[in-house]
Amino acid sequence: MDISDIFGKHVFSEAVMQRRLPKQVYQEVTEIRSKGGHLSMAAADALASAMKDWAIEHGATHFSHWFQPLTGSTAEKHEAFLSPLPDGSAISKLSGKQLIMSESDASSFPSGGLRSTHYARGYTAWDITSPVFIKESAAGPVLCIPTSFVSYTGEALDQKTPLLRSMEAVNKQALRIVRLFGNKDAQRVIPYVGPEQEYFLVDRQKYLKRRDLIYTGRTLFGAPAPKGQELDDQYLGSIRERIGSYMSNLNQELWKLGITASAQHNEVAPGQHEMAPIYTVANVAVDHNQLTMETMKRVAYQHGLVCLLHEKPFAGVNGSGKHNNYSLGTDTGMNLFDPGETPNENLQFLLVLSCVMRAVDEHADLLRNAASDVGNDHRLGANEAPPAIISIFLGEQLENVVSQIVDHGDAATCLHGERLDVGVSTMPVLHKDATDRNRTSPFAFTGNKFEFRMVGSADSIASPNTVLNTILAEAFSDVADLLESSNDFEGDCKALIARQMKEHVRIIFNGNSYSEEWVEEAARRGLPNLPSMVASIPCLTQKKNVQLFEKFGVLSQVELESRAEILYETYAKSINIEAMTMLHMAGKHYIPTVIGFVGNLAASINEIRSACPDLDLTAQEDLLRQCQALLNRAMASQTRLQALTAKVNAMERVEMIAGAFHDEVVPAMEELRQSIDALELLVDKDVWPVPTYGDLMFEV
Ligand code: ADP
Ligand code: MG
Repeated sequence: MDISDIFGKHVFSEAVMQRRLPKQVYQEVTEIRSKGGHLSMAAADALASAMKDWAIEHGATHFSHWFQPLTGSTAEKHEAFLSPLPDGSAISKLSGKQLIMSESDASSFPSGGLRSTHYARGYTAWDITSPVFIKESAAGPVLCIPTSFVSYTGEALDQKTPLLRSMEAVNKQALRIVRLFGNKDAQRVIPYVGPEQEYFLVDRQKYLKRRDLIYTGRTLFGAPAPKGQELDDQYLGSIRERIGSYMSNLNQELWKLGITASAQHNEVAPGQHEMAPIYTVANVAVDHNQLTMETMKRVAYQHGLVCLLHEKPFAGVNGSGKHNNYSLGTDTGMNLFDPGETPNENLQFLLVLSCVMRAVDEHADLLRNAASDVGNDHRLGANEAPPAIISIFLGEQLENVVSQIVDHGDAATCLHGERLDVGVSTMPVLHKDATDRNRTSPFAFTGNKFEFRMVGSADSIASPNTVLNTILAEAFSDVADLLESSNDFEGDCKALIARQMKEHVRIIFNGNSYSEEWVEEAARRGLPNLPSMVASIPCLTQKKNVQLFEKFGVLSQVELESRAEILYETYAKSINIEAMTMLHMAGKHYIPTVIGFVGNLAASINEIRSACPDLDLTAQEDLLRQCQALLNRAMASQTRLQALTAKVNAMERVEMIAGAFHDEVVPAMEELRQSIDALELLVDKDVWPVPTYGDLMFEV
């Protein structure tokens, strides 16, 4: 198959627009997409009509504003292209007004107190910079219009609006930096993002037997399988037949949507895989990542599989994350993060690097918060993903340059990549990168981009990129304020680079971020260690962060307060669902099974004893005692969990509830799990009520 035959088939792309729109309308659209502004009503009507014709040719009968509320997933409401006529017939129609804007009932989405239920109006508005596409589902093809979602009073109720605002902010400020170095051609600086998406696949029939997977997306119980990931034989291993055919289908579906699905491989844990697209403009990358997650689930269904995007579907093996690769580039193709051959002499790069160091150091708390979601609490700091402490990995070459600047105010030399001779005459001589990789760093420089490696696999990548854009905009803005009025640009620029690097060198760490020593060292350096999602929420409403977001028009204090509230609510509700699911499974599945099992065992002991009174029944009696003891413990834990959940839910303030779920309910859940998992290892597999870890991870 030639990918180019299907790539972008379902996207109302630049090429389609050029072909189908009247020239003048096309020009108006292109102009607005690159420079901003508002579409005229006439152009909107022409555009909508062309879109509708194109969609109908692809079998669509409906369109939908497609948006990203603060639930982490996407929302859509389909409407038919239908306009009835007085004579009882109808025509198909999409007006410019319908394309650009729609009213939506905001009261059923999280708003964090931004609107009370009687002020329910919300609006979705087309983001002209994100392409319109056709989404296929069982309901038939639907024309999807990517939109922002705002309240009646104009506050953002979604992920997209602040992201777009932050892109404008970083564009404006980064352009000032580029101009300082004499670049007059660039009109825009664009954040580029390439997210690597990890996921698990399990068999659908087995999935349906587990209430925990159905309700929470992860296993809440489960003893380890005899084999896990200890042999390192899964990572990049050959791809099994069923998985291979899934991946092949997934790629085709993604390509049709214009998503550049490229890298695919098996990941570290059994049943775990990864897909990475080729990077693109941040807002499009965010849309694409949401669509990728949806498509992964949909295609899995068609293959009798279920795609688990949860950060920690299985205890004891690695969970899933998302690596958010990020760079800034001009519309003329210059990458601001490209160090060139001799970074020590590249003043613009060093200035940008010092800004990154400063931004990440000053706002580590915000990055930590942006990477947190309920599931990611299981991963960050658990030796499979970066720790909860933010630091930057620069690699040998740049670390050396930075040290020289910190020590002497200037870097005279720089290390270069060496030649690598593998010792086989027929093999080519390799040119090593000047920088090795560091798997343990949360924020790693990888050649010409930074890889923010903490993001959760199920989470939207909108907020990490909103934060990255905004904190960089701030650093660039301050630097530009100083240097634009300088009389000795080179001297002042060098001094500023040295000052920023000195002030923020504590954020650089090239060692093993998983180690206990780093936790201690980071504490000595005064770097924040926010161990959980709940602990990371208060930073959103701290003065320095409110000032930051307000200064660049990204989020207002009210919007930040509402977001904090939504995060607390989300945490509390999610853990509550997990606790309820555990109580359900313990009460309805595990405990009755174990009672049956010990009853049968006791009956069998009695039978044997009456048949052969002199037989030694130590094995059965020991098993019976062990099971009964664990059963008693499980019952006690169940009662305790039930009481605790009720108590916590009755608390008053949402941050208190979330805190108590984290501090009290989560440990109580763990306690219940321990007894049940121990029982799983003792009780006959034939009667065990749910598929085991081995069944789920190895029998796909
Ligand atoms: P690895 O797993 O080896 O780190 P992958 O190929 O899985 O690499 O993913 C790397 C990601 O980084 C891809 O999405 C790629 O397109 C993206 N990327 C590469 N260059 C840039 C860049 N300049 N800006 C943003 N993302 C980039
Ligand atoms: Mg990868």
